[in-house]
Amino acid sequence: MSDNKRDGEVNFNQPEYTTPNHILDRFPVAPRSIWSKVEDKDWNNWIWQQQQRVRNIEMLSKVINVTEEEKQAYDGSVEMFNMSITPYYASLMDADDPNCPIRMQAVPKLGELHISPEDLEDPLAEERDMPVPGLTHRYPDRVLFYTTHNCAMYCRFCTRKRKVSDPGSAAQKKQLDDALEYIRTHKEIRDVVISGGDPLSNSDDRLDYILTSLRAMPHIEIFRMGTRNLVTLPQRITDDFIYMLRKHHPVFVNTHYNHPKECTREAYDACRRLSDAGVVISNQMVLLKGINDDPKIVKELNHKLLMMRVRPYYIYQCDLSQGISHFRTPIEKGLEIIENLRGWTSGLAVPHLVIDAPGGGGKIPILPQYFLGKTGKTVKLRNYKKKEFTYVEPQE
Ligand SMILES: *Cc1c(COP(=O)(O)O)cnc(C)c1O
Ligand code: SF4
Repeated sequence: MSDNKRDGEVNFNQPEYTTPNHILDRFPVAPRSIWSKVEDKDWNNWIWQQQQRVRNIEMLSKVINVTEEEKQAYDGSVEMFNMSITPYYASLMDADDPNCPIRMQAVPKLGELHISPEDLEDPLAEERDMPVPGLTHRYPDRVLFYTTHNCAMYCRFCTRKRKVSDPGSAAQKKQLDDALEYIRTHKEIRDVVISGGDPLSNSDDRLDYILTSLRAMPHIEIFRMGTRNLVTLPQRITDDFIYMLRKHHPVFVNTHYNHPKECTREAYDACRRLSDAGVVISNQMVLLKGINDDPKIVKELNHKLLMMRVRPYYIYQCDLSQGISHFRTPIEKGLEIIENLRGWTSGLAVPHLVIDAPGGGGKIPILPQYFLGKTGKTVKLRNYKKKEFTYVEPQE
């Protein structure tokens, strides 16, 4: 190998490895549903996927057998929160089962129209902790930076419903520059979480502008891109996008798979291309009733994610946002899931269960109790099989 090969010159499109078929076979290609006659060059084009999104009930009725409930829920919710589903993601929906885990994430249900007494307008007080519009600075050394309010698909359980899908509230260049200026002058910030909406709804040029600006600040060590496009629009991970992104390493991507059905060949390929370009990918799952509130499903998801080189990072307890109470689960459910992972499978497949505390308290971890108490120097513990053990502390 030539010694003058510089960082970033590896041609990641021709990887020097193959993945065995018994792994690839677990990642089925998405069925194309009503789009089976569409040419590959369109189907694989993210612009085409965005333009052809399913945005109304007439179009949806061609893809699935829409129920009366879904019709009513659509009519009642469309004003507040758009429906928008990429053909790729829509093709993963079960046409006949309204409780299909993909369909429940994309198609409104009547529960959305119900506001519970405990629901909050800004459950995480993201607005309160905004020193400048579009930037939440809550933790000492990192910020959350909203760069757009658009998403490829609108998730029915979205916490930022109020903002997302309202084009009038999107960040203008002036707002971006003000946020960048804040980061530039706050030297304690070392980690920038680039969020939205979905930051990948921005053009490559706009992302390049943001990342170049951040990289010009010596105190910025890492950034993370929080995107659901790996799930809802994997076609977005183009060569041009990857070339742009890898100029700015170290780059992390936090994505949001919720169910093993989302782990398709298209998703696999998108993650592989990102990983091959040196991006470290983690997953933030949201615990959703009827979708993934089952230890078996989460374990299967996390095993698939690891095969895609995506590390399970967080499981979020569902927030108190308005109109998503039908997705919320009791705390015990999350604990049961962690209890069924820890020890029973790879530690790499065990994420942190967190509650993002209402009122802006930040993420609080919740753990099953493995520490049973302490007498003198003797610590009592229990393992994943609920067997008890003791550990003795140093005497001195
Ligand atoms: C989640 C979050 C972060 C990042 O938190 P990590 O635990 O470091 O992943 C940063 N800022 C805000 C406001 C957040 O909600
Ligand atoms: S991608 Fe994220 S921000 Fe966009 S609708 Fe889904 S949950 Fe909300």
